[in-house]
Amino acid sequence: MLKPPTRGDAVSAQEYFDQGELVAVLTTQPLDRTLDYKAPEGGCFLGAFVEVPLGPRKVLGVVWGPGQGGFDLAKARSVIRVLEVAPMREEMRLFLGKVADYTLTPMPAMLRLATRAPGLGDPPSMRKIYRLGSAEPDRMTDARTRVLEVLRDYGGLAFTLKELAEQAGVTSSVVKGLVKQGAVREEDSPRDLPYPRLDPDLPGKALTDDQAAAVARLQAGQRSGDYGTTLLKGVTGSGKTEVYLEAVAEALRMGRQALVLLPEIALTAEFLTRVEARFGARPAEWHSGATMTERRRVWRMVGQGEAQLVVGARSALFLPFRDLGLVVVDEEHDTSYKQEDGVHYSARDMAVLRASICGARVILASATPSLESWANAEAGKYERLDLTSRFGAAVLPEMKPIDMRAEQMQPGTWISPSLRQAVRQRIERGEQSLLFINRRGYAPVTLCRACGEQIACDHCDARMVEHRFLKRLMCHQCGETKPMPDTCPSCGVEGKLAPVGPGIERLAEEAEATFPEAKIAMLSSDLFGSARALKAKIEEIAEGDADIVIGTQLVAKGHNFPKLTLVGVIDADLSLHGADLRAAERTFQLMRQVAGRAGRADKPGQALLQTFQPEHPVIRAILSGDEEGFWKAEAAGRQAAGVPPYGRMAGIVLSGPEVGPVFDIGNAMARNDAPLRAIDAQVFGPAPAPIARIRGRHRVRLLVKAPKGAPIQDAIARWIAPLRLKGDIRLTVDIDPQSFY
Ligand SMILES: [Zn+2]
Ligand SMILES: [Zn+2]
Repeated sequence: MLKPPTRGDAVSAQEYFDQGELVAVLTTQPLDRTLDYKAPEGGCFLGAFVEVPLGPRKVLGVVWGPGQGGFDLAKARSVIRVLEVAPMREEMRLFLGKVADYTLTPMPAMLRLATRAPGLGDPPSMRKIYRLGSAEPDRMTDARTRVLEVLRDYGGLAFTLKELAEQAGVTSSVVKGLVKQGAVREEDSPRDLPYPRLDPDLPGKALTDDQAAAVARLQAGQRSGDYGTTLLKGVTGSGKTEVYLEAVAEALRMGRQALVLLPEIALTAEFLTRVEARFGARPAEWHSGATMTERRRVWRMVGQGEAQLVVGARSALFLPFRDLGLVVVDEEHDTSYKQEDGVHYSARDMAVLRASICGARVILASATPSLESWANAEAGKYERLDLTSRFGAAVLPEMKPIDMRAEQMQPGTWISPSLRQAVRQRIERGEQSLLFINRRGYAPVTLCRACGEQIACDHCDARMVEHRFLKRLMCHQCGETKPMPDTCPSCGVEGKLAPVGPGIERLAEEAEATFPEAKIAMLSSDLFGSARALKAKIEEIAEGDADIVIGTQLVAKGHNFPKLTLVGVIDADLSLHGADLRAAERTFQLMRQVAGRAGRADKPGQALLQTFQPEHPVIRAILSGDEEGFWKAEAAGRQAAGVPPYGRMAGIVLSGPEVGPVFDIGNAMARNDAPLRAIDAQVFGPAPAPIARIRGRHRVRLLVKAPKGAPIQDAIARWIAPLRLKGDIRLTVDIDPQSFY
């Protein structure tokens, strides 16, 4: 899947550079080459993080190898200083080079990904700590005696000023007085402390035979010390987490580090609690919700090997692990693993790459794997382990269609009589129901009944979505909002704007009217100000504080609601009809995941799918639960079409403020396709991108399709190299695109 490196393997053999020797420094600045500097006083190691002068500025860089020379050495400037962090390891330099080659990303952008720690250039932050001194104070008071007693009682342990004063019940000036006398010693100590040790030998949960067998295989792989990837497939509630935590335990026993990637920050808190229960302490966390101080601490401690386990978002893959032995990618099919801003990379695929470089294991865990991973397992590249039995007596929910063609629907309503009846039964039995709709806001379309105008975003080729909760219209592409107008912006007629179609807020309104006796809770990512507030709501629901949960895609992601026994999917057809080659796969995964929310404890669950096409092959596969059948059919279709994973694809998006010049470049690229033809690749387009305008920029897309195994990156690099983009026109390349917007 991954091609051999070009830049990545040019790693220097020289490990240390004496003062004055020329070194090549890779900086985070957008330059197409490394820069030469003289090694500073005291010399520097290969991989050292350094500060170098660039024009009038000081910039961050890494010593990448010996300098190139070829100019007047008297003019070479010196490295200003070496930062007090561990040098970048060879394995990391290789990894960055290979990701750069694979994603066609310039190296400076890769280095920025690998240095996303605040305060990297600062010396290690210090704080004052206090210990027992050797001198006797000239005069004893009760307060002074209490301070010295506390220090003696804790036998040499250090305190912060606040801790010591509080413990002794004195003011901080008493402690300071004792410092002056030499009776208490004041020291500087680094603020970034190692993470508490995790104990892999604490007892884990009791495992079923199925789980124990999977654990044995994973632990044996871990002990081999070689690279290997395992697809761990298990239905919701089959105990995937318990199983892979035992692989983490084995990595820790071997003294190696582990990384668990999660797709959703909201899930992290629940997961951390489980880790703490298993290993007796909390692991390090790396995601956008962590504080700056914590992120700096993680980055440094990971590099020193003082963080054994990191739980994080996709960018944690670029942390400077000292000895990474295991990467778990949980919910590996999740689309959020594909970064679509800046560097376009798939964290799932890059986890496999990183592990293959450093001799680590990878576990890809999912109830509904991506077709890519399924195909890699079929082809024997990945090992596959299946967990089938659920905990306790619970079984997978019974799945049934509700044929919407036969239901008597009132206009402007979306809960069918059949679904209504099923929800009523649950309310009477004191059980929970989930109504699922994958659409945020109140209504996807606001239509003028006088002129037919649909309110659109001023900057994008997208309709504005009404959000009643926020009392505004919102563009889901660029985030622009505006108040709901009283009159139509097109014809000026008043009072004729009407919502069309359902969003989660409108569905909640219908549920409130239909089930006035029920307590209703809404779960949508935009309704909560913080991950903490969302987590609190999820816990409330799990404890039973809702009869009906109305949710978007968010609820599909692994939350555990033990009292939930019914899932009603409002529009199972919604995502079947995308232009996206993965539309069927996504629908299948999403429906399986949502249905998996029902019946997790001791009560069997039921999932009802409202659909206008119960005979559609994807809907039939979902209902029959024939996963292998679905995958085989989907794989055959893609194989016939020569698309991923049975062919290669890249998306090229050109964008600019004027549509004409953007199309001109697209047309010129399509004409000059010799480098692509040389590898039997085809180019499609240029065509307006499915979303033809975002934030005022016109977008034009070309798609490149190549046979499996073709060197698509090299060909694209040669194809775009002669382009000279003028003005404000930008080009982005997305290898293995996941979405086609
Ligand atoms: Zn109008
Ligand atoms: Zn917009």
